[in-house]
This record gives sequence, C-alpha cells and structure tokens, in this order.
Amino acid sequence: MVHDTKLYDVLGVAPDASEATLKKAYRKLALKYHPDKNPEAGDKFKEISHAYEVLSDSQKRSIYDMQGEDGLNGQGGMGGMDAEDLFSQLFGGGMFGGGGRRGQPSGPRRGKDIAHSLKVSLEDFYMGKTTKLALQKHVICAKCQGRGGKEGAVQTCRNCNGQGVKVTLRQMGPMVQQIQQPCHECRGEGQIINEKDRCDTCHGKKIVSERKVLEVFIDKGMKNGQKITFAGEGDQLPDIIPGDIIIVLEEKPHDRFERKGDDLLYNAKIDMLTALAGGQFAITHLDGRVLLVTILPGEAIKSGQMKMIPNEGMPSYRHHNTGNLYVRFDVEFPEPNWTDAETIAKLEGILPPRKAVPETQGKQVEEVVLANVDEYQSARMENADYEDDDEEGGQHGPGVQCAQQ
Ligand SMILES: [Zn+2]
Ligand SMILES: [Zn+2]
Repeated sequence: MVHDTKLYDVLGVAPDASEATLKKAYRKLALKYHPDKNPEAGDKFKEISHAYEVLSDSQKRSIYDMQGEDGLNGQGGMGGMDAEDLFSQLFGGGMFGGGGRRGQPSGPRRGKDIAHSLKVSLEDFYMGKTTKLALQKHVICAKCQGRGGKEGAVQTCRNCNGQGVKVTLRQMGPMVQQIQQPCHECRGEGQIINEKDRCDTCHGKKIVSERKVLEVFIDKGMKNGQKITFAGEGDQLPDIIPGDIIIVLEEKPHDRFERKGDDLLYNAKIDMLTALAGGQFAITHLDGRVLLVTILPGEAIKSGQMKMIPNEGMPSYRHHNTGNLYVRFDVEFPEPNWTDAETIAKLEGILPPRKAVPETQGKQVEEVVLANVDEYQSARMENADYEDDDEEGGQHGPGVQCAQQ
C-alpha cells in the first residue's frame, strides 16, 4: 500500500517502478535540471535528488510507502546526502565541474549505514548474551594510506580532464543530442595511476576488504526489531566519514513459549484427573529451571482457561521488573471407550448430577444419535464466512474457477 506518491510523481514514475526505472528517470531529470545546465530550474534539482535518494534505498522506500514523508523524519531521510553528492556518486565523480562539489566547501561526506539482521533465540533474550558477528567490510588500504599508489603517482586523467566522464555530441535530425559516458581510460574515476606505480596491496583501488568481528551485546529483555548501532563501523572510502553498522535483532520463534511484550504465554496440556482432582505439572523455563506447578484439588481447570504465574515472564529491558508467565490449559480427555460400566456408575456417584432434559410433554420427540464429523465438514463449519464468500464471488483460492456467466 502506498500512502503518498509525491516522490514518485517528482521522478515521473509509477509507485511500483523497478530500481532500474527509478535510476533511469533520475538520470534523465538530474541531467536536465542540474544547476550548471539549467540555472533557472530553482530547487527542482534538489527535489529530484531527494526523491531518488529515498526511493533508491529499499529500506527508506518501504518506510516511505508505508508512512509517507513523516515516517522518514528521524531516519536521516532529509539529511542523508546532498544533491551534488548523490549526483556525483551516480555519474562517477562529477559532471559539469570538478568533482561535483564546486563552490560548496562543506564538510566531508558520510558513507552509508549498513544494516544486518541477527537472529536471536528467546533463551538469549531472556538471559542476555554476547554474540560475535563476522562481517566483510571495506577499509582504507594501510599500505598506501588510501592513495592507491606511491605519493605523487596519482595523476588527473587526461582523456577526461579529471571529470570521469566524456561528453560527445551527436546530430539527430534537427536535434543535437548530448551523450555522457564514463571515461574508459580512468573508468569514471577522473584519476589514473600508472600500472607500475600502483599499490600492490589494493591494486590502486585505495580500499581493501577486511574481516571484522563485532561483539554484539544482547541485553536481557531486548526485543524483536531492536537496533544496536556500531557508530562509524561502515565501509571506509577515501574522503568519506564511514557510516554506521546497525544490527537489527530478529527473534526466532520458540517451540514452547510465545512472547507478548514482557509477558510469556505457555500452552499446558494436562490430563483430566489433574484438572479435576489436582496434581502437578512441570514447565522448563528459558534458563533451564523447572517450574513445578501445582493445581489444587477441586480447582476444576477447563480447556482454554488461562492462569498466570506472576513474575516468571521476560525481564524488562533496562528495568528491574519482570513480566508474567501466562498458562493456557488444554485438558486432555480420555480416549473413547476408556472404561467400563462399573466405573461409569461410580462416576455418577462422584461427579455433579446430569442436567435434566427440558420438559417435552405435548411436543413431538424424535430420538437421534451423533455421527462423527470429518475434517472437511469441521473446517467448513468453523469458517463462518464460508457461504458469504461464495455469494459475493470474491475471494477464491488459487486454481478455483469462478462459475459466473
Ligand atoms: Zn593500497
Ligand atoms: Zn578519464
């Protein structure tokens, strides 16, 4: 669901546009409205750049689709990257001027934040844990200190005059088309280093790939979706302040417990005798402790009934309180024909008496017996909307043909 399509409209694309379509639309408009080419266009270039910056980042795009521009506030939506930076990033080092940052002596750019998800078991959220996470990241080459070669070896590319791009004009009928292509000599970098002068560690790339191990401290009571930020641990690039690495915690489903905030829910199966006459059952907790639970004689636990064990839920993150452990009961009945007539006669003496059948005198009475129900019949009866759906001719499962004429 798309909440607001303003940014798509700015780029003139549909809200379901692919990444390639977005990029193409941005390139076209950015070239047209770049202030060096079109000084009258005002803020149009910034608008286009902002729209592309948001939509080209899948995380920001999904936030925008769900919550509109409001959702981006506080996400670095507006302040992420400036229009010139984005432009030079996409066009490989500036189009119309040196490096694309002419006349704007602002601070160094900030690199992208990188998000990683980390699956965490409920046990680890309960007890806390330090997890090591190994990542590959780019770091400035230590050998050449990010120069790519010996001091003085870096030269401005003569083929493109350091622009990184070659502009050629092509006559097409009455029109002159301007075609920009990345410079093949310097591969769009605007600089060249002679092969013999290149750093032999990074081969002139200025950066090398490095394995980085992060220690992620999962505090007791942290939650699904919670973020842990490692400031400045993002990829390094020359003249760029590295972004952050953001670890997003993802709770693994648990086979015994369901977490609801700081509370836990446990489904307990107990036998009928325990439900009626009392007894004990055990719950193995997330830290391995066994909670021995007593049901009092005569407590008469029903199937579906909920009870609670105070303070045995999840620890509350950075608070000293603890949630509760809710127990939902499922009372297991004996199998059919589980006993004999003699025992049943005893039960009649023990259990509360049967409810009397209402008065039938004067009414026509037919005696009937119960038949068993199969799975299909049962599912059909459970689904209250079954008949309605069919009449509306709306939702059909895949492969179901609609028989309307
Ligand atoms: Zn190097
Ligand atoms: Zn070049």
